[in-house]
Amino acid sequence: MASTANSPFRVVHTVCSHDCPDSCAVLVTVDSNGRAIKVQGDPSHPVTQGFLCGKVAKYLDRVYAADRILYPLKRKPGVAKGPLKRGEEHEAFERIAWDEALDALAARLQQTADTYGPESILPYSYAGTIGVLGYGSMDRRFFHRLGASQLDRTICSEAGGVAWNYVYGRKLGTPTEDFRLAKLILAWGANIHGNNVHLWPMVEQARRNGARLIVIDPYKTRTAALADWHIAIRPGTDGALALGMMNVILRDGLEDRAYIDEMTHGFDQLAERARDYTPERVAAWTGMTPSEVEQLAHEYATTRPAALRLNYGVQRSENGGTAVRAIAMLPALTGAWKYRGGGAQLSTSGAFQWNKKAVERPDLALASPIKRLARVVNMSALGHALTELGSNPKDGPAVHALFVYNSNPGAVAPNLNTVRRGFLRPDLFTVVHDLFFNDTTDFADYILPATTFLEHTDIQGAYGHYFVQLSQQAIDPPGESRSNVWLFSQLAQRMGFAEDCFHDTPEEIIRQALGIASDNDGNLGNGGHATNPNMEHITLDDLKREGHIPLAFHRNPETQPFMPNVSGPVPTPSGKIEFYSEALAPQGLDPLPAFVPPTESRWSKGAERYPLEFLSRKADNYMNSTFANLDGHRKMEARKSHKLEMHPTDAQSRGIADGESVRVFNDRGSLRLTAYVNGSLPPGVVAAQLDWAKLSNDNANVNALTSERLTDLGAGATFYSTLVEVAKA
Ligand code: SF4
Repeated sequence: MASTANSPFRVVHTVCSHDCPDSCAVLVTVDSNGRAIKVQGDPSHPVTQGFLCGKVAKYLDRVYAADRILYPLKRKPGVAKGPLKRGEEHEAFERIAWDEALDALAARLQQTADTYGPESILPYSYAGTIGVLGYGSMDRRFFHRLGASQLDRTICSEAGGVAWNYVYGRKLGTPTEDFRLAKLILAWGANIHGNNVHLWPMVEQARRNGARLIVIDPYKTRTAALADWHIAIRPGTDGALALGMMNVILRDGLEDRAYIDEMTHGFDQLAERARDYTPERVAAWTGMTPSEVEQLAHEYATTRPAALRLNYGVQRSENGGTAVRAIAMLPALTGAWKYRGGGAQLSTSGAFQWNKKAVERPDLALASPIKRLARVVNMSALGHALTELGSNPKDGPAVHALFVYNSNPGAVAPNLNTVRRGFLRPDLFTVVHDLFFNDTTDFADYILPATTFLEHTDIQGAYGHYFVQLSQQAIDPPGESRSNVWLFSQLAQRMGFAEDCFHDTPEEIIRQALGIASDNDGNLGNGGHATNPNMEHITLDDLKREGHIPLAFHRNPETQPFMPNVSGPVPTPSGKIEFYSEALAPQGLDPLPAFVPPTESRWSKGAERYPLEFLSRKADNYMNSTFANLDGHRKMEARKSHKLEMHPTDAQSRGIADGESVRVFNDRGSLRLTAYVNGSLPPGVVAAQLDWAKLSNDNANVNALTSERLTDLGAGATFYSTLVEVAKA
C-alpha cells in the first residue's frame, strides 16, 4: 500500500505483532530515505479504528532505540555468565560477522546433537511476535529436521484454551464489534482498558446505551476502577463463583431450558453439581457476601444481551482450567449466545485455520537423526528442564543447548532462581535472538539481532477479532538485524539440510499458510484464492491492496452477523456444548467443574508460613517483559514499578508504612520492593508487577517467587497461585 505518486512518503500497511488480542492494523509512514517517521492505527480497520495503545503509539522509540542490538555478538572469552548492569552489556560481548555466527552455531549444534543426541537441543520461543511466520514457521522446520526437543508452549493461554475447547470445541466468540450492543458486560479477569483497549470503545458505546459494566478481578485494574460494580474476589476462586452463579440461576429458574435442551450436553449432571455451591459457601471462598453472589447471578441471567469478556488471567491459577470451563458454561446456561451482542469471548483464534502442516512441516522430523517427532518439553517448567531433565534416562538427555527467540525466559519464566541455576550450568550453550540486552542475553553465549514487525513481512490473524491481515515490510532492518525466517533458513543451509522448504521466501510461506497452492511453474491453484476454511475469498493480491480482509462469516456484519453457538452442531465429541466432558474422565479428571482451592492459597497448610496470596501482575504499559527497557514506557509505569501493593490491614499488622522498603519472600526466593499501601486489593492479597530483574535493586523480579506447579488443564503456568510473606527490609 503506497500513498500518491508525487508524495515523497510511502504509507505501508503493517500489523502489530505483539501478544495482544487486538492485532492492530498499523500504517507506517516511510520517508524517501527509507526511515519510518510515523506509526498510526489504520482508521479503516473496524477494530483498530485509527488508534494504537500507549505501548505502540511511540513504537519508533523502540525501532530506533540507541541501545538496540544491531550486530551478532559473541561472549568474550573468560567473561562469566550472569546478570550484567544495564548499559554495560556490550563489554561482555564482541561483535562478529553473521557468517562467523552462523558457522559457529551450526558447528556447535551439530556437535551437541552428535554427542548427546539432538533432543538435547531445546528451542524456547513464545509470542514475542504472533505473526504466523515470525511465531512459528522456518524455526519449526529447522528444529523438526534437526530432531531437537519440541517445546510445549503453555506459558500464557494453554489452560484456558484447552478448557474452552472442552466446552465449545473451538475458540470462537462474540465479535468484538458486537459488544457495543450488550446491555450487560461482564469483564472476568479482563482488564479491557489496560490490555484489550480496542474493545473499550465498544464498552463505552454500550454504556452510553444503558449497559452496565461489571468487573470480576482481585485487583482494582483500570477497567475495574471504571466499572459500575467491581467484585474483588480472592485469587483462584473464580470457579467457585461461576458455580455459585449456576446454583442461583438454577435455583431461581433463570436458565434457558429450550436452549439447554437443544444445544448442550450434561445439564442434569451439572445441575446436581451446582446444588453444592450455595451462595453462602461461595461467599466464604470468594470474600463476597451471599447476597452479592445472588445479585450477580440475577443480573447476568436476566439482562439481555449479556456479553462475557473472559481473559487469560483466570487460568493462571492452579485450577484455572476448571475455572475457565465453569465460567464458559454460563452463557450456555442462560442462552446468552442467542442475542446479538451477547455470548462470550475468550479468544477468536480458532477462526483462523492456517495450513500449519505446510508452514511448520512436522514431517521433517522423519528425516532427522531420530526419525520421529522429538520429545516434548514444557516451557512452563524451564527451570526443571534445565536442572533436572536427563537425570532419569527414560526422559531423554539433559538439555545442552538452548535456543531462545521471541521470548525472554530470564524474566518471564516462573521460578526464576531455578531457571538461573540452569542458565549457569557450564555445559549449557545458549543462543538468544532478540532486539535488546535483557535478563536472558546476560546468560547467552551468542546474541543475534532480531527484527521488529516493521522490518519483515508476515501474515496474521488475531485472538480478538476476525480479520486476516498482511504485514508488509516497511523499512530495511537496522544494522544487521534479521528476521526469524531468515535466521533459520540460513542455519538450515549451514547444517546441510537439503530440503527445498528451507529456501522458501516469506511470500511463499504466506501462500502456504493461506492454502494457496502453486505448481512448479509458479502458477497458483484455486485461482490464486486461499483454500483454508473461511478464507476462500482471499487472494494475496487482495491482501496486498487492502491490508486486512474479514473472514468469510464476518464479511457482512450488519446483514449477516456472526453469532457463534446459536445453533449446532458444536465441534465437541457430543456435537453439543459440553457441561459434562466424558473425555476428561480417562485422564483422571472430573468431567464436571468443581472448586478446589489452589495448593498455594489461604486455605492451604503453606499459608501458616506464607499467609499472603501474591499476584505477579502485568504492567499496563509493557507487554510482559517487552517495552520495559524503554524510558518512556517506564515513566508511564513509574507509580507502580518496584512497588508491592498491600491492603492497609496487612501492612499495619506487619508494622509496614507506605513507602517503606520491604522484602517479599517464600521458599523459592525473595524480592526487595517498596510498600505501596492502598486499596487495590482485598486483605490477604499483595501484588507486584512483572519487570526486568536487571532493572531492579537486587537483580530479581516477581518470578523469584512463582512456582513451576502446573495448571489442572493444559499444563500451563500458575503465576497467580503463589504464597508469600512480607517483612520490612
Ligand atoms: S499492543 Fe495491542 S492494542 Fe497495542 S498496538 Fe499492538 S495490537 Fe494494538
